[in-house]
Amino acid sequence: RRAAFAALRPLPPVTRDGTRIALMVNAGLRDDAAALDVTGADGIGLFRTEFQFLVSATLPQRERQQRLYRDILEAAGDRPVTFRTVDIGGDKALPYMRADDLGEENPAMGWRALRVALDRDGLMKAQARALLEAAAGRTLNVMFPMVSEVWEFDEARGIFEAQRTWLAARGRQTPAAIRYGAMLEVPALAECMDLLLPRIDFLSIGTNDLTQFLMAADRAHPKLAERYDWLSPAILRFLRRAAAPALAQGVPVTVCGEMGGRPLEAMALLGIGIERLSITPFAVGPVKAMVRSLDLGALRARMADWLAHPPADIRAALSDWAMAEQV
Ligand code: PEP
Ligand code: MG
Repeated sequence: RRAAFAALRPLPPVTRDGTRIALMVNAGLRDDAAALDVTGADGIGLFRTEFQFLVSATLPQRERQQRLYRDILEAAGDRPVTFRTVDIGGDKALPYMRADDLGEENPAMGWRALRVALDRDGLMKAQARALLEAAAGRTLNVMFPMVSEVWEFDEARGIFEAQRTWLAARGRQTPAAIRYGAMLEVPALAECMDLLLPRIDFLSIGTNDLTQFLMAADRAHPKLAERYDWLSPAILRFLRRAAAPALAQGVPVTVCGEMGGRPLEAMALLGIGIERLSITPFAVGPVKAMVRSLDLGALRARMADWLAHPPADIRAALSDWAMAEQV
C-alpha cells in the first residue's frame, strides 16, 4: 500500500466527478517542511508555532522566531503556509512562564491560546513582527487559535496591523498581502458566523478542540477516546451548519483537526461541503486515494439523507456505501 500511495504523489486530489480538493499538511518544526515534497501536499494548512516555544529552554526571541518562519516559507516556495499564532497555556504550560502556572482545574478551557496572547500582548507583538518580517514581499496567512468571541479576532488583527504600520513607517518591507483567519474551536463562535465572516479571509476548523467542547469530553482522556464517534449525527450536523454560511459566501473553509486525516471521516467532511483539509503528513496518501475514487455528488446526496434521518450507525452506513462504490 505504501508503494501505491507513493505512486499517487504526483497526481492531484481530484474526485471522480471532477472536484479538486485541497490537501495540505499540519506542521510545527523546521524539519516538517520536508513533508511537502515527500507527500506532494498543496501547502501547510496549519503551522503550530507553539512547538518552537515548547521545545525551547527559554522564551524564543523574535529573531529566532523570524528565522524559523522564514525557513519554512522558503522551503514551501510557492505553496501557501498558514501560521497559527501561539497556542500555549493550559496543558501546554511553558516551564519558563512558571509565574503563570495557575494550577488550573480545566486547563483546556483555561487561560490558553489567544487568551494568553491578548493579555500578554508583548508576546503577540513580537510574534507579529517576526511573521511580518519573515513574509516580507509575499503573502502572509495567519490565523488565531481558540477565538471565542469576535472582538478577540479584532484585537489580534489589530496587533498585526499596528506592527505592519510601524514597519512601513520605517521603510521596512512588509508582506505583499496579509490574509487573516480564525479557528473555529469554540462552539459559541459558530453562533456568530454572520458577525465573523465579514472580518475574516478564511476559516479553519480545529475539530480536536471543537469536538471536545461540543461533547464535553476531554480529547486526551483514555476512557473517552472510544466513547464518542466523530461520525455522530451531532458532530456532523454541527460542522455542516457551522461551515455552511462561509461556504455559501465563498470564504475558504479548511478542517485542520485529526478528524480530516482518517479516510472515512475525511469522506464525511467532503460529504458535508468541506473541500480543504490539512492533515498529518502520513495521512495524505490514504486520504488522496479516497478522494480520487470518490463520486462526490453521489456522496453529498447520501449524506444529506443520513443527516436528515440518521441511520443507527453512520460510520457503518458510510463504510458500506464506500465499499459498494469502491471508494
Ligand atoms: C484542533 O484543535 O483541532 C487543532 C487543530 O489545534 P490543536 O490540535 O493544536 O489544538
Ligand atoms: Mg486546537
